[in-house]
Amino acid sequence: MSLPLRARPAVRPDLALLEGYHSPQVDVAIRLNTNEAPVPPPPAFADALAAELSRIQWHRYPDRAATALREAVAAAHGVEPEQVFAANGSNEVLQTVCLAYGGHGRKAALFSPTYLMHGQIAAVAGTEVVVGARAADLTLDLAEVERVVVEHDPAVTFVCSPNNPTGTIEDPATIAAVADLAPGVVVVDEAYGQFADRSALELVGDDRPLVVTRTFSKTWSMAAARLGYLIGPTWLVAELEKVVLPYHLDAAKQVAGRVALRFGAEMEERVAALVAERRRLVDRLGALPVQQWRSDANFVLFRPLDRPGRQVWQGLLDRSVLVRDCSSWPGLDGCLRVTVGTVAEDDAFLDALTEVLQP
Ligand code: PMP
Repeated sequence: MSLPLRARPAVRPDLALLEGYHSPQVDVAIRLNTNEAPVPPPPAFADALAAELSRIQWHRYPDRAATALREAVAAAHGVEPEQVFAANGSNEVLQTVCLAYGGHGRKAALFSPTYLMHGQIAAVAGTEVVVGARAADLTLDLAEVERVVVEHDPAVTFVCSPNNPTGTIEDPATIAAVADLAPGVVVVDEAYGQFADRSALELVGDDRPLVVTRTFSKTWSMAAARLGYLIGPTWLVAELEKVVLPYHLDAAKQVAGRVALRFGAEMEERVAALVAERRRLVDRLGALPVQQWRSDANFVLFRPLDRPGRQVWQGLLDRSVLVRDCSSWPGLDGCLRVTVGTVAEDDAFLDALTEVLQP
C-alpha cells in the first residue's frame, strides 16, 4: 500500500510545478523522434571496445579526472585537457554548469523556442529561468538578448546552435556579441555541432566566460553510453570539478569515449552521409504542403499547412512512424520535428506523411 498523498513529504516548492522530460518512448517501426544516429558505431569500434573493457579493473574506482579521455577529446579539438570537462551526457554537463554558476538567487536566460531541458535543468538547480523570444525566422535577436540580459543580469545564458528543435544556426560573430552582452557564463550548446559548417569553438579561451558543449549521443552513434563534454576556460573547468560528484564518469564510459575518438574518419563519413540525406529529406518535404525551416542539424522542423500538427503526428504514429510533436510548444504552433534517419526510414516517413496529408 502506498503512502496517502497528504502524508507524502512535499517536494521543494519551486519544483512543484515542473513536469519533467516528455518524449514518449513508444514501440514503433520507425523512430525519428530523438535525433539519435540511425546506425550503430562501426563494427571495429565494438571489437576495440570489447578488448579494452576486458582490461578494466572492476574492483577499483575509475580515474576521477578521466585523464585519458580528456586528453583524447582535447587532441580532437586542438585544445588543452584542462579545458575539457566530461560528464554523463551533455545534459549532465549543463547541469554541472548550473550547479556551479546558477542556483538560489541567480538567473539563467534562454531564448525560446529552444531545447526544453535548458530551462528544466536550470530550474532543478534552483536557478530562476528568464525567457526571451527569438526573431521571426527563429534565429537569435541581439536586441532581445540585450533587453533580457540588461533587465535580468543572468548568471548563465544559454545559446543552442544549431538550435533544437528549430535547426537554426548562429554565426560565431552573433555568439561573440552575446558573450559581450551577457554578464555571466555563456553556454553554447552544440549537441548538433558536427552537422553544421560553423562552430563557436573558435571563441573559447581563458579570456571569455564561454563554454561549448558537445555530445557523443548523436554523431558518435553512442546515445546509449551517456557521454558529453564541454570545452571552456581552464579556470571554469576547475570550478566544475569541485561541484561534480567524485567518480561520476564510470570506467567503461571513459574507455568507450576514448575508443570512439579513434574512429574520427568513419564518423565524419557518417556525418557527411546524414547531411546529404538531410538535403534529400528537405527536397522531398518541399514537394508536400508543409512549411519548413532551414536546418543545420540532423533533424528538420516542419509545419503541416492545412492540418493540425497533433493530428498529423497521430496519423504518422498510426502508421508506426514516431516524430516529435512540438505543436503545442510556445512559438511552434502546429510544428513537428523529424530526425534524419536512414534512406529507408526517411522514405517510410515521407510515404506515411504523404498519405496523412492527402486531401
Ligand atoms: N542539448 C541538446 C540541444 C539536445 O538536443 C540534447 C539531446 N536531446 C542534449 C543537449 C543532451 O544530449 P545528451 O545528454 O545525450 O548528451
